[in-house]
Amino acid sequence: MADCIFCGIASGEIETRIVYEDEFLLAFKDLNPQAPTHILIIPKKHISSLSQAAEEDLELLGMMQLAAVKIAKDLDLKDFRLVTNCGKGAGQSVEHLHYHLLSGRRMLWPPG
Ligand code: AMP
Repeated sequence: MADCIFCGIASGEIETRIVYEDEFLLAFKDLNPQAPTHILIIPKKHISSLSQAAEEDLELLGMMQLAAVKIAKDLDLKDFRLVTNCGKGAGQSVEHLHYHLLSGRRMLWPPG
């Protein structure tokens, strides 16, 4: 999608530090990390947020979660948090579905 920064990353137009890639997904390091490990997992297909995912995206959503588990295993992350901000009020700043995979520090609950 034009003007979507994560579509630009998925197409290779915008450089990033890739951690994992397959036919449907890309995972890369967050530019402004909020934890020692902070990785973003995105679908290559443009979906603007989790609330815009449809029945046809069921498998893709499952793949995103399993990719997070694979990355956590590959990076030997003991504990991690997987979170998506859905909507501006929840802190979403990039309108392309992404999960934050955070690890390496003590996580607080509830999050701010
Ligand atoms: P959110 O605020 O939940 O929409 O998360 C968007 C995340 O994308 C933030 O943590 C940003 O630091 C991150 N981000 C924005 N642009 C880039 C980029 N070009 N490469 C990597 N991470 C980015």
